[in-house]
Amino acid sequence: MKMIFFGPPGSGKGTQAKLIAKKLNILHLSTGDILRDKFDDSDKLSKQLKKIISSGNLVSDKIINQIISNKLISKVSSAGYILDGYPRTISQSEYLLSFMKNNNIIIDLIFDFKIDFKIVKERIIHRSLKEKRSDDNLDSIKTRIDNYSKETYPVSQFFYNNFSQNYFTIDASQEVLHIQKELMKIIKKGEN
Ligand code: AMP
Repeated sequence: MKMIFFGPPGSGKGTQAKLIAKKLNILHLSTGDILRDKFDDSDKLSKQLKKIISSGNLVSDKIINQIISNKLISKVSSAGYILDGYPRTISQSEYLLSFMKNNNIIIDLIFDFKIDFKIVKERIIHRSLKEKRSDDNLDSIKTRIDNYSKETYPVSQFFYNNFSQNYFTIDASQEVLHIQKELMKIIKKGEN
């Protein structure tokens, strides 16, 4: 099962992606997590990434596409995966679509987590107390939401227009367990 999760920062798509990937025993490919893992390196790239991510801006398409294509061609991805936080720009979606075409990959399901930006801000502030992410502060949150509206929302609309039969909108303001059940119901149907 191959899936894409769309949604603004703080919509809970990462939490759900982690839970569902574990349940189905498939890969959870969060570009945010992969980038944050690189923070421990002491090279120039790590420093640049820290600066960009802390400010809430997007990392270059070239770096992200490279990371994703390396993951998608690895053997462990053949059982399936959830793309969480990718594609985030039109250029990334063009790259992904051509990668899929060249490698005969079909995306089975696309979930779009919809939520009010006011709730998103409250959730991220709450998360900042626990996770201490460098980009969970008010300035970065504003940039990340702006980036979502300008760059990623049009990508989700493109997928909605072109893959409408596989595209499901989720009310992300609901309880974690409730959302998980809703996702699993759709996934189970998709498997048949
Ligand atoms: P996330 O954990 O998905 O909220 O991502 C955290 C940060 O990582 C984002 O604010 C960006 O700076 C960077 N990032 C993650 N995924 C991407 C992507 N697909 N394209 C560009 N930057 C990304």
